[in-house]
Amino acid sequence: MRCPYCGSLDTQVKDSRPTDDHASIRRRRVCPDCGGRFTTFERVQLRELTVVKRSGRRTAFDRDKLQTSIEVALRKRPVAPERIERMVNGIVRQLESSGEGEVQSSTIGELVMEGLKSLDDVAYVRFASVYKNFREARDFEELLGQLGGDELEDDPRPAPVRDDA
Ligand SMILES: [Zn+2]
Repeated sequence: MRCPYCGSLDTQVKDSRPTDDHASIRRRRVCPDCGGRFTTFERVQLRELTVVKRSGRRTAFDRDKLQTSIEVALRKRPVAPERIERMVNGIVRQLESSGEGEVQSSTIGELVMEGLKSLDDVAYVRFASVYKNFREARDFEELLGQLGGDELEDDPRPAPVRDDA
């Protein structure tokens, strides 16, 4: 496995154990050249999946892309990587066991929303706002209403500067 930091091909496995759901093997690796540490996951792939987009275009299902979009929604949220891994595993397993070689992109979106809803409210709203492509603030408020809106205080915008102080 190539080192993501320096590109060396000589990385070593330091620790190897199954994730909590036993659907993956998690390996901690270290690069002897630069000292970089990183983690890889080994997983079963039951079948190849094709994603059918809303436009009708077909593309190979990409687990990494799915994981990245979930991680973007969860950025800076207090959710352990293992729980993200488990959520992605769960989604992939549902897709693979649906019996269809082709899945609608909207099906994946719904599964992600479902998963995020139980994992982290803020990430759920972030993902939903992009996924549903909200055009009106009203829609967004409705969603916040459903969630109780109590965890949405961490607005990343800086506080307004007062010039009358
Ligand atoms: Zn390295």
